[in-house]
Amino acid sequence: MARTRTLKCDCGEQLRETEVEIDDILTIAMVCPKCHFTTLTAEQAKEFRKRLDLHHAVDQERQIIKVGNSIGITLPEKLKNFGITVGKKVKIEAIDEKSFKVELM
Ligand SMILES: [Zn+2]
Repeated sequence: MARTRTLKCDCGEQLRETEVEIDDILTIAMVCPKCHFTTLTAEQAKEFRKRLDLHHAVDQERQIIKVGNSIGITLPEKLKNFGITVGKKVKIEAIDEKSFKVELM
């Protein structure tokens, strides 16, 4: 990312690279610390688009199924486009009594 370049807001403050939530997607954007104007650089927009595509591929209701003596959740085929393939290791971590996250390793 071009670090040497700075972006100035109309209010006079300098935009800072900040993690923000846009349409329920956590992403990096340029944000004004004073008036909270938010914009994306071309690279940030590409990254946001990638995260948006992943959300569209994975955010859906699934049903827990029986797999041998265990239970499982199938993942949509589209996730192959994001490098999520058979044999890939994941780490499962409880968040609260109703949710957990699955992290690719
Ligand atoms: Zn501003």
